[in-house]
Amino acid sequence: MPELPEVETIVNNLQVIKNHKIIKVKVLRESSIAYPDSNQFSQGLKAKYIAQIKRRGKFILIYLEDEAILVVHLRMSGRLIYDTIKNETKFLRVSLQLDNKAYLDFIDPRALGKQWYFTSQAQMLENLNTIAQMGYEPLEYFDKKVVVKKIQASARSIKAILLDQSIVCGIGNIYADEILHFAKINPIAKGVDLSQRQITQMLEITKQVLSKAIKHGGTSFRDYTNSFGVNGNYQNFAYVYGRKNEKCRICNTLIIKIALAGRGTHFCPKCQKL
Ligand SMILES: [Zn+2]
Repeated sequence: MPELPEVETIVNNLQVIKNHKIIKVKVLRESSIAYPDSNQFSQGLKAKYIAQIKRRGKFILIYLEDEAILVVHLRMSGRLIYDTIKNETKFLRVSLQLDNKAYLDFIDPRALGKQWYFTSQAQMLENLNTIAQMGYEPLEYFDKKVVVKKIQASARSIKAILLDQSIVCGIGNIYADEILHFAKINPIAKGVDLSQRQITQMLEITKQVLSKAIKHGGTSFRDYTNSFGVNGNYQNFAYVYGRKNEKCRICNTLIIKIALAGRGTHFCPKCQKL
């Protein structure tokens, strides 16, 4: 699933659609539209200029000239592709044609991704709880003490806490594993058992890991590409994620994979002792 670095990469790519007008809207799969219905969705977007493209957590926010917002979440396999030729894939779910004859295509093989159309920021916050309750952006300034307190108050595993978008947002399975490895924290460790120093350090490492991943265009294990169809290459630099039974790059111990917080979780049992 695309996480913060992948979504950030896409948002950077999508600056090419800024100030372009949406000429045509085609919804090829009704269930890809989460709000309102596909008719209202199409009517709302048609003939509008795109003003800004931003990211909030793992959501892509495309602001229109009249303050309406097109919200996109890619979930497991969604891609938002900018192309000058028409996409013929059967996985095309939503297609926007722009005034420069280019297309912004939502391609989603597993069809779990969603799009929303809201007339205003207020309407978005009212209808999309995940965004309304979204936690801190890890790459922006925030008061670390507040996060330390929240984490230390939790009896959940630190892996589950990192995946919880309401504390710090944008982190998914890949980067949670990588962050915990560099922070030398066992993913099973409970929030309540971590020291202030461990958590503060982990938050610093979060910034470093995410920034490095953005520099490499994100991670492409399965479906992810950026908006120009190009793969990321952070997977070549991963220390634990996707490296089950491979040697730890630091101590040569074999990386193990366990199920935790409902997700496959990779770590080095020696570097990340409980
Ligand atoms: Zn190790």
